[in-house]
Amino acid sequence: MIKFFNSLTRQKEEFIPYGKVVKMYSCGPTVYSYPHIGNMRAYLFMDNIRRVLKYNGYEIDGVMNITDVGHLTSDADEGEDKMLVASQREHKSPWEIAKFYTDIFFNETKRLNIDMPEHIAPATSVIEDIIKFVQGLIDKGYAYITSKGVYFDIEKFPGYGKLGGAVDSKKAGARIEVDEEKHNPYDFVLWVKAPKEHIMQWDSPWGKGYPGWHIECSVIGNKFLGEYIDIHTGGVDHKTIHHENEIAQSDSLCSHQVVKFWMHVEFLQVDGGKMGKSLNNMYTLNDLKDRGFESEDFRYFYFNAHYSKQQNFTFEALKGAQNGLKAFKNLVLSHKNAGGQVNQDKIQLYKEEFLQAINDDLNMPKALAVCQKMLKEEKSDNIYQLMLDFNRVLGFNFDKEEKIPDEILQLAMLRWQAKQNKDFAKADSLRQEILDKGYVIKDSKEGYVVNKA
Ligand code: AMP
Ligand code: ZN
Repeated sequence: MIKFFNSLTRQKEEFIPYGKVVKMYSCGPTVYSYPHIGNMRAYLFMDNIRRVLKYNGYEIDGVMNITDVGHLTSDADEGEDKMLVASQREHKSPWEIAKFYTDIFFNETKRLNIDMPEHIAPATSVIEDIIKFVQGLIDKGYAYITSKGVYFDIEKFPGYGKLGGAVDSKKAGARIEVDEEKHNPYDFVLWVKAPKEHIMQWDSPWGKGYPGWHIECSVIGNKFLGEYIDIHTGGVDHKTIHHENEIAQSDSLCSHQVVKFWMHVEFLQVDGGKMGKSLNNMYTLNDLKDRGFESEDFRYFYFNAHYSKQQNFTFEALKGAQNGLKAFKNLVLSHKNAGGQVNQDKIQLYKEEFLQAINDDLNMPKALAVCQKMLKEEKSDNIYQLMLDFNRVLGFNFDKEEKIPDEILQLAMLRWQAKQNKDFAKADSLRQEILDKGYVIKDSKEGYVVNKA
């Protein structure tokens, strides 16, 4: 039995999908800048759910949107247009910006070995569908037209606020602009009538314009997954407005509850506080790389906390994760081709314990503890095999041979030459230099081998 915490009911519930194939929607990135490690926590969370479901034998049909239409900075549909700001900053068209950062986003997910959804849909690829969807809401009386665009009328949807709590979501949108044409200050925009100079715009029954932000997720979910979606993921920041609005749009058009499980990942913090441009702490995987960390170290770091809790990122903590992962991998590999076999009952027991942990609302710290306990058993082939099986959930690269950097290979060759020339002082000092850089040399009659220390 799998249990997930459902933000909608505020309870841990047994996960029973609508049908045989799990339909899963994940809010994707706004492609206007480098994704930071906080964003990556949200996609590791998605990966975590997908891998756990697959491990349990489920087939998944998943989709993720890419927000490539300029929407306004804050969830409450005000502020500056992120895509526009980026295109001015980088002297590129919004389309070039979107293409550039979409590629980067995919690259980052690849670096983290993230299991990606079956479909990826940029908002600009579904404009026709958006127009149909909005028209449907107007026809059903849920939306109205003003001089600025088309708005969703929240008074028509009695369930508004059920995810974040009506009061909370209204508070969150408290800085809302005054617009006399709106029926209610919290009504949100579905379609924006664009001023002439707005670069991204399309024809619609309401004049040239572009979609509001919330609508793309309802439309893409509906288009690829249909009217019944098992799981919807995103960061907690989206709970009170974006997801509330998605529910209003989707459930109104379909006349029933569309999403069964709403799942939210808490925020990654840096040095105990918020990440922010002005704080200079919106680290990317490249920033980690520059300081000597692999993306995989961050994956291991992710597993150290439960997704429902804020996780505090520090380079010290990442160092801890890096050491932890190194030790973990060494332990795993020490069982490879070890020759021994632990008895089948024990194997069964570990399998059950691991499954119980991951199925208990993704308790990854517990799942890792089960692995650690298991790896303390005598060195055995079947432990290694079981670890590879668990790794379908963990997603590490146990077996990848360490690539020795060219610089080290060069030093090793110089040392070998020195040794051949009987310059032992030089050979020894080179051996030490190599060791200081974290590598050891083992000589044999045939030559030498370099390994990580
Ligand atoms: P955005 O591109 O701003 O829509 O963000 C992409 C995803 O990252 C969303 O699901 C956000 O909820 C999530 N996110 C943003 N910042 C953080 C953070 N610091 N920790 C965890 N998730 C985050
Ligand atoms: Zn979304």
